[in-house]
Amino acid sequence: MSPDTAYLAGNWAQVRQRVDEACREARRDPSSVNILPVSKTFGPELIRAAVTLGLHRFGENKVQEIRGKAALLADCGIDWVVIGHLQTNKVKDVARLASEVQSLDRLELAEALHRRLQQEHRVIDVLVQVKTSPEPSKYGLPPEQLLAFLDTLRGYDTLRVRGLMTLAIHSSEPDEVRGCFRLLRELRDRASAQGHDLPRLSMGMSGDFPLAIAEGATEVRIGTAIFGLRLYPDA
Ligand SMILES: *Cc1c(COP(=O)(O)O)cnc(C)c1O
Repeated sequence: MSPDTAYLAGNWAQVRQRVDEACREARRDPSSVNILPVSKTFGPELIRAAVTLGLHRFGENKVQEIRGKAALLADCGIDWVVIGHLQTNKVKDVARLASEVQSLDRLELAEALHRRLQQEHRVIDVLVQVKTSPEPSKYGLPPEQLLAFLDTLRGYDTLRVRGLMTLAIHSSEPDEVRGCFRLLRELRDRASAQGHDLPRLSMGMSGDFPLAIAEGATEVRIGTAIFGLRLYPDA
């Protein structure tokens, strides 16, 4: 095992254990929570080491980064998941390279992505990113627009809507953080009652995932706790 692989294996085992522990505390089945490794800012060598551990799905927040890494790791069979804010002029690469977009947050983007996916003859999974925190720096659809947005998305057959995604408020108050996750779950439940099947809730990161699991996350997006501290900023 290479040093990189050993390092990642230790981190991965620790994160999986903490996720399982959070599931037990929430009286949930550990198999109901997936971990999405977030590899943004980390190089192809480290991702290749993660692939040797059996990981094959990675979250990235910049399309340019996916483009570079996808070319260098073409032999790895990786599913690239877009989790960052997407500009409409980037949909061409997304339609070609991404297996999933978790940051679908506006109609203009859905339209552009749909048109491009039609040209590529591809269908991808998407999650609708909802803004559950008052911070201006956070992206996402305003909660009150969710039902109408989901209705509109039914017209785009290249986008398989599988659930919702959010980023919680950055706060040292667990109640505030948990409130964001609770809001996403409640929005999902309301949408379900209106006939929208949204089994997936992507919420929780390295610093707050136990709270997200307590509120029903089916997927936590973990960067730092698996790959280490990022040497340069990601936004
Ligand atoms: C970077 C990022 C994460 C992972 O953050 P960590 O704190 O490093 O676990 C999760 N979700 C999104 C949208 C991100 O941009």
